[in-house]
Amino acid sequence: MKIVKCINCGVYNKNRDHCKNCGTLLSYKKRREQHIKAEKAERLEKAKKSPPSFIDNLQQHRYMVYRVLGWILYSGFLVVSAIGAFIAWLVFAIAAG
Ligand SMILES: [Zn+2]
Repeated sequence: MKIVKCINCGVYNKNRDHCKNCGTLLSYKKRREQHIKAEKAERLEKAKKSPPSFIDNLQQHRYMVYRVLGWILYSGFLVVSAIGAFIAWLVFAIAAG
């Protein structure tokens, strides 16, 4: 017969894996197994949530898109400015002519 004191509520349990009062796991070995299992699950969950290389690739890809977008907007602005300047020159030339 094995009597184990519950670490959670202090109740003595005879030949039990779980505390009869609060349900806490009493066996050190089982607690350890459960802890290892939980840690493994957590690691797996983390790996699922944030695969680093995938995120890095996505971020780089996104920055590249932003850069290209910025470049397009900038060149678009330049073209519009050039057309505006050309029209202004044209109007001036017609008015002067
Ligand atoms: Zn207990």
